[in-house]
Parts: sequence; structure tokens; C-alpha cells
Amino acid sequence: METYATALLYAIPFFVILLTIEITYGYFVKKQMHKVMDTVSSISSGLTNIIKDTLGLALIVVSYPFLLEHLAITEIKATWLVWTIAFVVLDFAGYWNHRLSHKINIFWNQHVIHHSSEEFNLACALRQPISNLVGYFSLFLIPAAVLGVPHMVIAILAPIHLFAQFWYHTRHIGKMGWLEYVLVTPSQHRVHHAINPEYIDKNLGQILCVWDRMFGTFQEELDEVPPQFGVLKPAGTWNPIIINFQHLWRILQDAWRTRSLRDKLRIWFMPTGWRPDDVKEKYPIAIIGDVYNFKRYAPEATNGLKLYAIFQMLVSLGLMMFMFYNYTEIGFEGLLIFSGFIFIGIYGYTTLMDRKKYAVGIEIVRGVAGILWIVYFGDWFGLNSYLPMANMWIGAYFLLTIFAGIYFSYFENKETELGMAA
Ligand SMILES: [Zn+2]
Ligand SMILES: [Zn+2]
Repeated sequence: METYATALLYAIPFFVILLTIEITYGYFVKKQMHKVMDTVSSISSGLTNIIKDTLGLALIVVSYPFLLEHLAITEIKATWLVWTIAFVVLDFAGYWNHRLSHKINIFWNQHVIHHSSEEFNLACALRQPISNLVGYFSLFLIPAAVLGVPHMVIAILAPIHLFAQFWYHTRHIGKMGWLEYVLVTPSQHRVHHAINPEYIDKNLGQILCVWDRMFGTFQEELDEVPPQFGVLKPAGTWNPIIINFQHLWRILQDAWRTRSLRDKLRIWFMPTGWRPDDVKEKYPIAIIGDVYNFKRYAPEATNGLKLYAIFQMLVSLGLMMFMFYNYTEIGFEGLLIFSGFIFIGIYGYTTLMDRKKYAVGIEIVRGVAGILWIVYFGDWFGLNSYLPMANMWIGAYFLLTIFAGIYFSYFENKETELGMAA
């Protein structure tokens, strides 16, 4: 996965620049589409996804090279034609994969994170899964394999195809004339992220919108129906790691609780949101009824906590970038431990943002582990050779997270105590 890590090193600055432009623009035209905690949560979700994908922690059911070897009936050389064919096939595969993710219960679990924000902005695009633990996407690429599209072409196009879906997550661009007939545009994708009955599960295309028009899932954005963003069963947390497994957890509980053996088995592959009758009655789950009138997730957040959340997110980003630059030197085991520190860090500060008391426990355990690591090795995965006294800085950072965890849980968090007593 080293090539993917390299591709990301180029893509991340690009994401950061566009995000900064969107936030600055929103500030000056007084139409800010970002809320601090939501954006921190989105970016943190992006970090978890990138790390997980780079480590290659998925069970690949079938790989593209394998299909190519067994199915190719012809071999096309890497000319402009093959790039075009590969792009169209990839986009077609993306459409059906996306449609599957929306329509089938178990597959929705790995996509719900992308829809979990109740805002719509460039940061939302970064909400990507870590729960995609089974790699089956290559099955959608059988047409490419039959045509003999070289693996290299797919390997290069796939990240480009993914990153090209970033720009249209914005509310600052209106309809785009004739482009609306060819490409997925911001207007079309706002419809996709909306929970209005008119819009739900529409516009599943990724780059080309022709598939939606061909297969009956196209819906234009209507002036009289302003899109309302989110998911019908709200996530209710800023913690991207929890959001990644919420839906799976609900299915597991239902499968366990239902008395019907048939339902225990079929619940996984039923349409998204389907529940056995007996558990639906006994354990009801609230679903948003009036999309124009629901309470968006916003636990009490002081400026101090917002600043701290931004700080923690930036440190996590910095640590991750350092990890990518030193991918080979750190080695796989080192990468796992390094990633563990970042993951637990994200879990900890997003739990603080949720105003959950147990966040302090996570922060203390992680902080102490980090300090012990520094004391034992005298270095942070080779950072000393870039930054003099890096071990002191990292040590101080871990110490700070311990104090901040305690401060935000016990000294600043009066509101939650009242809430819990009620
Ligand atoms: Zn979707
Ligand atoms: Zn999207």
C-alpha cells in the first residue's frame, strides 16, 4: 500500500487548501457552512480512514490481478483508449457498489459514516469508512478484467477517481448548466446527502451522472425542496469510530433478540433499515419523521473545548503525515503501534467533544502509554532526527492531553453533570 500512501501525500495538501478556501469564503460572504465540532469530526474520520486503508487492514475476497489472470479474453495496451475504458468501467462499478451500500442492510454499515454529518461541506467528503473490512469491490471490475485492462491502469485511476469526488461536497456552487447532464455536480450531490423523502437514495453516481439517468435513480435539486442533511437514525456522536459500527451493532442486536430463526439470517441482506417485527415492537428505534424539524446533534461546547479539539485534530494530522513520510523506516509493527496511538487519540478527543465522562480514562491511559514509550525509547519513531528534542515535545504533548482530559471532564463540564442528574 505504499503507492497509496504516496498518492495521499499529494492529495492531502490539496484537500487542506480547498477546505481552507471554503471556510474563508463562507466567513467573508457570511454564509458559513462549517461548524467547528462537525468539521473536526469529519476530518478525524478522514484520518481514521486513510490510516486504515494505508495499512491494508482488509480481507481481500478477490483481487483484480487474480480476475485479470483468469478472465481476460483480450489484452489492451495502455493507450488513451484503455484509460478511457477503465475510467468508465470504474465509474460504472462505483455506481453499483454505492447503490448496494445504500440498499442492503449490512453494506449500509460501511457507508453510513459518509452520510452521518448533519452539515454539507467539503469536510463531509472526508467522512469515509474504516468498517469496510471485506474487500469485494474487484468483483464489480469483472468487465475491465474481461477486456484485459492492465492492473497498473486500475491502480493509478482508482485513487484519482476517489479524490475527484471531493470537490462537489459544497453548498457554495449552484447548478452548472450543461455539466448537470454529464457529471455529478454539487447540486446533485446535495440531493444525495439529503433525507427529504423526495431525495433519499437518489443520485448514486460518483463522477458521471449518466448511470443515475439510465437506471432511474436521478433526482434534480428542486427550489421548493431545500435539502436537509444527515441520516434518518442520527449518529448522535462526534466519534467517527463509533459511527462506523453503530448500524452493525443494531443489526447484531436485532439478530440476537428476534425469535425467528429466518429473520436472524435474512436481516443482514434485507433492505437497509429493515427489522424483524418482534424486535421492532419491543425495542423501537426513533427515526426522524419531520426532516424540516429535528434537533441536530450539538452537545454543549465551550470555545476552550473547540480550540482543544482543533489542536488535537491538527496534532493527529501532523503525526499521520510524519508516519507516511517515514512509512518504510517505521516498519509494519511500528506502523500498527503508531496508528494505535492516533486512533485512540481520535477516540479520546471526540469522546471529550461528546461530553462523555469516560473520555478522561482514555486520555489518561493513552497519555501515560505515550510518556512511557518516550522514556523507554528516548525517541518518537525517529522524529528526533527531524526535530531537535522531539522526544521532549511529544512527551509534553502527552502530558498536556492528560491534563486537558481531566480539565474538560471535571472542571469545565458542569453542564453534563446537570444533564446526568436530570
Ligand atoms: Zn451515499
Ligand atoms: Zn458524498
